[in-house]
Amino acid sequence: MFRLRKMQVVVSGVLVLTIAAVLFWSNNSQASGSHAQGNLPLYADVTKPIDARVDDILSRMTLEEKIALVHADSKFSSAAIPRFGLPQRWLSDGPHGVREDVGPHTWTPAGRTDDFATLMPALIGLAATWNSDLATAYGKVIGEEARQRGKQIMLGPGMNIMRTPLNGRNFEYPGEDPFLVSRMVVNYIRAVQAEDVASCAKHFVANDQEHERNTINVEMDERTLREIYLRPFQAAVQEAGVRTVMSGYNKFRGYWCAENDYLLNKILKDEWGFKGIVMSDWNGTHSTRGSVFGGLDLEMGTEVSPYEKFFLSDAFRDGVKSGEYPMSVLDDKARRNLWQMLTTKAMEPRRPGAINTKDHQKAARTVAEESFVLLKNDNNALPLDPDKTKSIAVIGENAVLLQAYGGGSARIKVFYEITPLEGIVRKVGDRANISFAMGYSEKESAELANQAVRAASQADTVIYVGGLNHRRNFDAESWDRLHMKLPYKQDELLDRVVAANPRTVVVLFGGGPMEMGAWLGKVPAVLQVWYPGMEGGNALAGVLFGDVNPSGKLPVTFPKRLADSPAHAMGNYPGANGVVRYEEGLLVGYRWFDTKNIEPLFSFGHGLSYTKFEYSNLRLTETRDGVMTAEFEVKNVGPRDGAEVAQLYVEPVKPRLSRPQKELKGFRKVFLKTGESQKVSIPLERTAFAFYDPERRAWAAEKGDFKIVIGASSRDIRLHENVRLKETTYDK
Ligand code: BGC
Repeated sequence: MFRLRKMQVVVSGVLVLTIAAVLFWSNNSQASGSHAQGNLPLYADVTKPIDARVDDILSRMTLEEKIALVHADSKFSSAAIPRFGLPQRWLSDGPHGVREDVGPHTWTPAGRTDDFATLMPALIGLAATWNSDLATAYGKVIGEEARQRGKQIMLGPGMNIMRTPLNGRNFEYPGEDPFLVSRMVVNYIRAVQAEDVASCAKHFVANDQEHERNTINVEMDERTLREIYLRPFQAAVQEAGVRTVMSGYNKFRGYWCAENDYLLNKILKDEWGFKGIVMSDWNGTHSTRGSVFGGLDLEMGTEVSPYEKFFLSDAFRDGVKSGEYPMSVLDDKARRNLWQMLTTKAMEPRRPGAINTKDHQKAARTVAEESFVLLKNDNNALPLDPDKTKSIAVIGENAVLLQAYGGGSARIKVFYEITPLEGIVRKVGDRANISFAMGYSEKESAELANQAVRAASQADTVIYVGGLNHRRNFDAESWDRLHMKLPYKQDELLDRVVAANPRTVVVLFGGGPMEMGAWLGKVPAVLQVWYPGMEGGNALAGVLFGDVNPSGKLPVTFPKRLADSPAHAMGNYPGANGVVRYEEGLLVGYRWFDTKNIEPLFSFGHGLSYTKFEYSNLRLTETRDGVMTAEFEVKNVGPRDGAEVAQLYVEPVKPRLSRPQKELKGFRKVFLKTGESQKVSIPLERTAFAFYDPERRAWAAEKGDFKIVIGASSRDIRLHENVRLKETTYDK
């Protein structure tokens, strides 16, 4: 390997790879007699097309070797096949950083000292940036750290749609709108995979609640499936070329997602042309026959021992031998696994990765800064003037709670985590007198509340840092939330704190909507910070004290009360007798609130800034038939530099089939200095007007009138214009 490094210095490009592959192959493979040393077989020749190399390996493989490709050999790996120079394949969670190592055969942490990682803000926060360039920066961090840690597949991003505010994993997913989710995950996946690490689109599909996640059967109509829940996965496959997909734990229309012929074979593989592997979620495989024919390619995490007892191990092998299962089905699975490995360059010497670099820390901080959503800011209560704020009472457990190591499989053994209190002290500790009071905790305590009220009354300004955390029944895998209220009697506490000091700024952690009690009307400012990652405290201090102008917008609707949100209004969460019916259909999130005319607490796309933006001059130009561009201007007319997310919604005027009142079809984040204006141009393909026609099994853009609306949120509409589609078109 030392020789290899020297050669890399003097030679470049394909030649390096070829030499590298030869050396690697001759060092690692014990190829059988027919290929003498130095006589490079096709599969090892990295200059040859991947499909040809895959076929070549496959043609040489024994039944046992093929079987070894389709199931795990530890908690997070599948076996090496040394004869072909294929190393053991390591997988790791997760979406927000590279998880610590466990096992190999248990969930107990391995206790290593080299498995710390950078913690990025949670994916819901990434979505709140509405900045797909940041999704690229985010994916690069994940990819580089995964490579450094020797991982071939990263188990993320999650892309389930927020159907209910109560889903315990909402923080791991990018929100309620399939268009916004798609724009984020596509860039994330491309960036991870550019680092020679495969991404994993999960959990396919309709795994939208944790309650009974291992057994629940989800029923929905075809349009809802296609237009809402499948959209991000389709984009991940067709636009980003994601190499792996993880099936959900749940059932869909009566069949386990891990053995669902309709979802996996018909839609994912046949219709969308997915070439990679479907892996099961951990312990989400249920039978040999079902997964052989139902489209599963890699079985992970089944709770049996030894691994030969996995459904896709000995039982599959014996079934192939006896003729019960055709070899062609095993070949297809093996081929997909090999394709994933070779596209991930598994057979080649790995480029070194990088871990927790300055760039990674900067990416974590920038994503956090742009993810914060200023929900309310009366009389410019924020930003705080660092020179005039002489004493600050920081109140709330989340000001000091370490969040990184919580939430379930998304948890991270982080290098460091700047808490809000630490960020505030770093920022103004030299100028202001800062006190801290916990206010509440898991155990009810009147004394904690009393101390907090006292601290509030003695300070110029209160920074309250509360909301949710990753404990059970809040933002945590395996359980849903039980209600949408703030836990630990925070509503009461906030009421008392505001009464003691009206200059109270509220900072909320949480992966989704929270009810805001009577206190909302009394506090001047509220900032939603999601789970802001390891640089969260620094990012927060920057926004609170005005170094950074907030520019996040809500990727989900915040309802006034749980009963207003669609699944709950329809009474079809969490389901009954093991079945949940998505009777709200297409009307998820703002689609429901707008169509039904229900006023939310904060609307989808809402988010304030320390400056103001004006919109003008909307013009729609038809470039080709039915393909348009919307052009308009956004001007920063306020006192500070800042960024605005301009949103484009399409409203069908008189649709033939019922459709949501409007749907997001484009957006652009523009950074403008004070006084500056910029022309924004958003393309509108025919798909922007289309719905899924279940009879034709195609996307139909039907002729007729549409209103194009440009807004600073889904309800803060600034410009609109009508257009007419002259012809009906169908796309597969
Ligand atoms: C989760 C997956 C995760 C897997 C491995 C499962 O419980 O649902 O998202 O990737 O565990 O940790």
